[in-house]
Amino acid sequence: MRPAAVEVHDVHKWYGAHRVLDGVELTVRPGEVTVILGPSGSGKSTLLRVINHLEKPEVGYVSVNGEPIGVRRHGERLKELSERVILGQRGRIGFVFQNFNLFPHLTALDNVAAAPVATGKLTKPQAQELARELLGRVGLADKVGAYPRQLSGGQQQRVAIARALALGPGVILFDEPTSALDPELVGEVLAVIKDLATSGTTLIIVTHEIGFAREVADQVVFLDEGRIVEQGPPTEVLDHPKHERTRDFLSKVL
Ligand code: ADP
Ligand code: MG
Repeated sequence: MRPAAVEVHDVHKWYGAHRVLDGVELTVRPGEVTVILGPSGSGKSTLLRVINHLEKPEVGYVSVNGEPIGVRRHGERLKELSERVILGQRGRIGFVFQNFNLFPHLTALDNVAAAPVATGKLTKPQAQELARELLGRVGLADKVGAYPRQLSGGQQQRVAIARALALGPGVILFDEPTSALDPELVGEVLAVIKDLATSGTTLIIVTHEIGFAREVADQVVFLDEGRIVEQGPPTEVLDHPKHERTRDFLSKVL
């Protein structure tokens, strides 16, 4: 069997005395779409940051494509990976943020082409060719020369998705990708993510778009106070939630 695309094993994360992740276990199979739901402050962004090695858990570990990283239990060290290996893993994980985070001084084309050039994967002409193709895929073939300030929020987010794809990532993490958008721009971004989902890209998506989750998710995870309270296919978690916390949350966002 192929290794899990992402495995989160007994991850605990504290900020000072505040326990933000409290024993999270999560397996994401290659090609699957996982949607993470939960109230504000429940640890969703922190979980994505741990998966992307931007935060290190105090306990537990994360494996990406079968390569573990981090600490197993209090004091018991798993193999410590060098910064180079961490960067290598991070290079295979795309991250799409709520606020796009594009480089303001670069065109759409150069935003997408930047990382493959900086990491030495492609020459500049090769990266620009790839960027053109990816911008076409997200419906922005006519915007290659535009700067972020000349684009709508929905267009900027689609550039950010093309930029994540340019890494040739094994998995793409989305942190509330449509939360900063005007309502009329949400659909175009969800359509692009849906296209990735149906083309077999491994995705982990934090979102409050329940209808979208129902359509694309293989598994839905409900996080509350740093714990996974409920987890399963959308027909279970969204339509027949077992826990009071999940029911209460869904009644507020639906
Ligand atoms: P969510 O994305 O579900 O809203 P977060 O993962 O952003 O939740 O945050 C979970 C909790 O951790 C919150 O209480 C937040 O205030 C706290 N937190 C997040 N990042 C930090 C940090 N860098 N330092 C201290 N506390 C943090
Ligand atoms: Mg968040």
